[in-house]
Amino acid sequence: MTNRIAVITGAAGGLGTAMCKALAAQGRKVVGTHLPGEEFTAQAKDWQASLREEGVDVAIYPLDVTDFEACKAFTAAVEQDLGPIDILVNNAGITNDAPLKRMQPEQWNQVINVNLTSMFNMCQQVFENMCERGFGRIVNISSLNGEKGQFGQSNYAATKAGIYGFTKSIAQEGARKGVTANSVSPGYIDTPMVRQVPEKVLNNIVAGIPVGHLGKPEDIARAVVYLTADEASFVTGTNMSVNGGQYM
Ligand code: NAD
Repeated sequence: MTNRIAVITGAAGGLGTAMCKALAAQGRKVVGTHLPGEEFTAQAKDWQASLREEGVDVAIYPLDVTDFEACKAFTAAVEQDLGPIDILVNNAGITNDAPLKRMQPEQWNQVINVNLTSMFNMCQQVFENMCERGFGRIVNISSLNGEKGQFGQSNYAATKAGIYGFTKSIAQEGARKGVTANSVSPGYIDTPMVRQVPEKVLNNIVAGIPVGHLGKPEDIARAVVYLTADEASFVTGTNMSVNGGQYM
């Protein structure tokens, strides 16, 4: 089955774009989500057009993953327009850093909502259908910093660590129904999110990566391709660290 429908949230970002291309190359029908609103929709259309020029077809839908009802409506729309969702990659995520003493409750809540509550919001919509059809692949994008913690990222690291418990739990719930759930924890990947880090700090980070360089978005996309393959049915409830050896 190559023509399975794969949804990727936050698809137009650094990692999402590579995932869309890689899954499309596997023959998946790829659906990407972008933030709602005129400006984001216009950006997403440009992004979609640039992918089409490369021969990659991605359907796009607006979606705020923090909004449970919107996730429900999105899933219904995709299923009606294209068919049942076989593969879900929960990729949308943000940072909003501050040391604990300066972190505001709004900062905490925003990151929890986008990075963690979104997992529940999205997985609940597709899970029962996947179980009923006897096939599903869920990949939740965590982070190296969820594994090891990071100064100034107590909110982000808490969400990314929370993803492990969430993923293992639903993996148990789906195991006998053909539905797998796994996480991928990228290390530092050469994306706009990482390029925001001041140069001096980034140089120090690279010095601490055993392989000696940042990862590429394609490194993460390959992990997603592996975990979403039909043949990956015996791989569930696990985390794949893709970090150049930075944390073992
Ligand atoms: P990015 O900022 O390029 O992409 C994130 C996407 O999420 C964007 O398209 C954004 O519009 C979308 N998004 C943000 N808030 C949203 C919301 N409320 N609803 C829907 N979409 C929303 O980031 P990226 O570097 O591609 O990161 C993708 C994922 O990988 C994130 O979960 C991130 O935490 C994780 N990650 C990235 C790195 C890295 O080095 N880039 C490392 C570890 C983990």
